[in-house]
Amino acid sequence: MQQERLVAEVNAFMNQQERRILAQDIDKQDANMAVSDSRFGMNPQTHRRSFVRSIAGGTLATMAAGATADVDPRKVLLYESTRKEFREAIESGALKAVIVPTGSTEQHNEHLAMINDTASVTLVAQKAALLLYPKVMVATPVPVGISPHWMERKGTLTLKKETFLAVVFEICESLQAHGVKNILILNGHGGNVAPLRESAPKFASKLGIRIETNSYWDAYTPEIVKKYMASGKAPGHAAEFETSFAMAAFPERIHWEGVDYDKIKSRLNIKDPQSAIQEEEFAREAKLATAAKGEAMIEISVQWTAGRLRQLCDA
Ligand SMILES: [Zn+2]
Repeated sequence: MQQERLVAEVNAFMNQQERRILAQDIDKQDANMAVSDSRFGMNPQTHRRSFVRSIAGGTLATMAAGATADVDPRKVLLYESTRKEFREAIESGALKAVIVPTGSTEQHNEHLAMINDTASVTLVAQKAALLLYPKVMVATPVPVGISPHWMERKGTLTLKKETFLAVVFEICESLQAHGVKNILILNGHGGNVAPLRESAPKFASKLGIRIETNSYWDAYTPEIVKKYMASGKAPGHAAEFETSFAMAAFPERIHWEGVDYDKIKSRLNIKDPQSAIQEEEFAREAKLATAAKGEAMIEISVQWTAGRLRQLCDA
């Protein structure tokens, strides 16, 4: 892995970010932030001035080699494309790689939507694919992950490890059948990390194509986390990082109304003491979130993911 090149790219990007974001009045930006374009079926009508669009057509596009200004964000989503569009992309040789996002549907404390991880990773995937258009497309996200550790909290859905891996494998197998040679399984949920890392090389050798995996937060070095997160933590769980991400990307998935973390403790009755302490910690840290931090962290991850995809396509 050309780690140094990626680090250099991220550093250059961060310097630019600092001028662009941190110099601004963060509170004002939080208030004015109007973004949402995950296109993951949650909010098809909400199409405010799009974060994705602004990136595709803005300063970042000029930084990314080969990026096309103002690409329709739909064009990089396999599941929003027609068979004609996909066929032409693969048969012309323009399409070099596909991202398979993997997420979860699980409790995200009292204030974040359960689809959070899936929506977050899909957004990063889409924005990275846009930077590399038309080389990369995003497959349908796997919306449920391995979350047995959160089953104490109501609403969480979980798959058994083998079920989850079978779904991911068969998506890769389908893509391979259509001629896709490079796949990045981009993960957005902690419980999926180890099984994916262990399985990606096996999937690759079974299918005879290149398959690699990363979580979108692999972009964050300890220095980046320290710089942007007051809690010093990312990704955490529904805490400063994930709440900041949601504020920047899809504020409609944050619901603070009626949330009282002090009152909820007794009702939840969490048996594992470690888990109960963590719950309080994350609730406290969520209050540190801002949309500006979220925007910076998202863009760092998008740049890093685009770098990984470039390596995958060029290898
Ligand atoms: Zn999460």
